Amino acid sequence: MAELRADVLVLGAGMVGVGAALHLQQRGRDVIVVDRHELAGEETSFGNAGLIECASVFPYMFPRDFGQILRYAMNRAPQVRYRLSDLPTFLPWLMRYFLASSPDRAMHSAMAELPLIRRSLIEHEALIAEAGVPELLRRTGWIKLFRSEATLAAAAVDFERARQYGVAGEVLDAGAIAAREPNLTGDFAGAVYLPAPGFVPDPGGLAKAYAALFGRKGGRFVVGDARTLEQDAGGWRIAGPNGAVVARDVVVALGPWSDLVFRPLGYKIPLGVKRGYHLHLAPRGNAVLHHPVLDSDLGYLLAPMNRGIRLTTGVEFARRDAPPTPVQLKRALPRAHALFPLGEAVDAKPWIGARPCLPDMLPVIGKAPRHAGLWFNFGHQHHGLTLGPATGRLLAEMMTGETPFADASPFAVERFG
Ligand SMILES: Cc1cc2nc3c(=O)[nH]c(=O)nc-3n(C[C@H](O)[C@H](O)[C@H](O)COP(=O)(O)OP(=O)(O)OC[C@H]3O[C@@H](n4cnc5c(N)ncnc54)[C@H](O)[C@@H]3O)c2cc1C
Repeated sequence: MAELRADVLVLGAGMVGVGAALHLQQRGRDVIVVDRHELAGEETSFGNAGLIECASVFPYMFPRDFGQILRYAMNRAPQVRYRLSDLPTFLPWLMRYFLASSPDRAMHSAMAELPLIRRSLIEHEALIAEAGVPELLRRTGWIKLFRSEATLAAAAVDFERARQYGVAGEVLDAGAIAAREPNLTGDFAGAVYLPAPGFVPDPGGLAKAYAALFGRKGGRFVVGDARTLEQDAGGWRIAGPNGAVVARDVVVALGPWSDLVFRPLGYKIPLGVKRGYHLHLAPRGNAVLHHPVLDSDLGYLLAPMNRGIRLTTGVEFARRDAPPTPVQLKRALPRAHALFPLGEAVDAKPWIGARPCLPDMLPVIGKAPRHAGLWFNFGHQHHGLTLGPATGRLLAEMMTGETPFADASPFAVERFG
């Protein structure tokens, strides 16, 4: 059996793995990407809302408002739901998330991530140009609708806070909403319009376009199971379909499945998941949705994807591999039909995915402390499409001894002791 050799194995061909592979390749490394699927971008990086969220300065932290916590605890809020039977498995993680969401620590997370967020669209623009897929980036920005004066007022305060970090946008009244999105129906207190974020109408297609670029530049893709990873004197090896695949360095970029590799190696990293669902629906007649639109108070988002209008849900806390319970999707569907002229579902069943999250909402990026040549790049939470290429740059700079463009210390795995 032939043995394949490279400088680096990247485990996982989502946006994060492909972003890292391209940046390593740009720095002269011979890279093999390994995934259990034959194509890149088939999992979480396929199913997201398509936002390149360069305006998202403040990560999604655990709420500190008692009323909001109570609403979530009652399991009636559309934004967040939990599977009661799974509560014992994720409660310890939720406690860590709560503690990491104190105002000081939340601010620390926001400031640590800010250089990556600011870099996010720049990195995508460069890769999209090189990959030759300008149609996969729309410069529409997005709209957050609010149905109550209270939630609009709170959002306006958040927006003012973000503005201090250079975020552009405007608060829209009902007339301005109608001018931007003539097909929406409802009683809106107002909206916040963020013009800068990019929108990707086929996120899985973008990961595939990046993987194709990687292939054109000599990168190799192997179908294999990352759980076969072993270390020996020659470095790291996994079992490929035609023999071993071997490299000195390995990058774990398995998103919500990263624990399948780090846990057997003895790392106790508190990786949790926030599950989410989507379903595509055909627009009715000639109705056009011009921007992704978040119906904030009702907890779902509509995004005008190439495949149809993608309805994405908020967060579901559950075991990663628990059977799907698309309650939020079912509740959102009639509300979405009332908001925008939607026709038949395009998909036979809802898609389910899992946002890979650390309690401080920062990814783990950098060298594993106890194994030579082992590198981590996972836990991109709500922003993995956004951040994949930027964190890929950061990791590649660290691996090749360049000066990193951002302080990488907040992302070190050592923060978990
Ligand atoms: C509903 C929803 C909406 C979202 N909206 C947005 C958004 O608008 N903007 C944004 O920036 N982010 C968004 N996100 C988050 C974003 O999608 C994720 O952060 C991101 O996709 C994570 O990328 P990844 O490459 O780390 O993981 P993945 O894309 O899941 O990639 C991991 C890869 O590992 C592979 N793998 C797993 N196990 C094995 C194994 N044993 N062997 C080999 N390979 C394996 C998988 O096949 C997969 O290809 C959203 C997420 C959800 C769920």
